[in-house]
Amino acid sequence: MDERYSRQILFSGIGDEGQRRLLAARVLIVGCGALGSAHAESLARAGVGQLRIVDRDFVEPSNLQRQTMFTESDAEQRLPKSIAAANHLRQINSEIEIEPHILDINYSSVERLLEGCDVVIDGTDNFATRYLLNDACVKHNVNWIYGAAVGSYGVTMTIRPHETACLRCVFEEPPPAASAPTCDTTGVIMPIINIVSAVQVSEAMKLLTGSIDDLHGSLMQFDVWRNEWRRIGTGSPRPDCKTCGLGVFETLSASAESAAVLCGRDAIQISPSQPTRLNLASLAERLRRAGEVKFNEYLLRFKTGQFELTVFQDARSIIRGTDDIPVARSLYAKYIGT
Ligand SMILES: [Zn+2]
Repeated sequence: MDERYSRQILFSGIGDEGQRRLLAARVLIVGCGALGSAHAESLARAGVGQLRIVDRDFVEPSNLQRQTMFTESDAEQRLPKSIAAANHLRQINSEIEIEPHILDINYSSVERLLEGCDVVIDGTDNFATRYLLNDACVKHNVNWIYGAAVGSYGVTMTIRPHETACLRCVFEEPPPAASAPTCDTTGVIMPIINIVSAVQVSEAMKLLTGSIDDLHGSLMQFDVWRNEWRRIGTGSPRPDCKTCGLGVFETLSASAESAAVLCGRDAIQISPSQPTRLNLASLAERLRRAGEVKFNEYLLRFKTGQFELTVFQDARSIIRGTDDIPVARSLYAKYIGT
């Protein structure tokens, strides 16, 4: 242990005691795309004793430009991301425990996955999952680190339930469906991934080693193309916050389920988490770069590979070509955006 972690132990913020704490810790990594790859590699090398990695997708060639956990061979085999990541992480550090899960984190699985975890780190690509994590982490008093990146822009914030503002204290509701750009419609460059993940991982290491005073305590925003860096103070928990003030965890109930299998039609229906009215013309404009689009004033049809997404004005979508809910949710998050 001393040899492997010697340079990190020399660092005054960690030391022998900090390293012991890292080795005894368990971190839940939610989503193993670009951010999750960086989290997993950094935390494995740092010697976090147990990494639980959850992802619903498999590796595709378009991931390789920024998702550093994966190789061409993983993409050729279409391996599930959590499995491919575990294979590589075991070669990087065979002394820690890696626990991969191929699943869609939702109201029925999130609390089980959280069990025994000291910190949760966000590598997801959608707000529906982040509000779910916020509810579950506040309910069970687990620290979590929000992070997101698209284009050249990224954002991160560390949430310590009842000590700091939570995600809902800062953003009362998630953005409406199809209102925010996604990596699959707008693109993304790797440097912003490195920055957001570096801040998230540093925060995880501070939390795990008990260096609470060194946390940045803000909403941090970066744009590496426009050269903008901002820190906005997030303050204390809001007493009127639905989640951390009033203790209402609406995303954890079965009624929050947004997906339904349409029997015998090889299709899934996904409903948005809140009512909205889409501008189908601007969604069509965004999707044109990613596949074939047709629309009228009532609905939009988008084809990508074997799948066809029909999107209605209320942001409800029927996804044809699969009867697998995680696959449908993944397509919705990538192309419509939640
Ligand atoms: Zn709150």
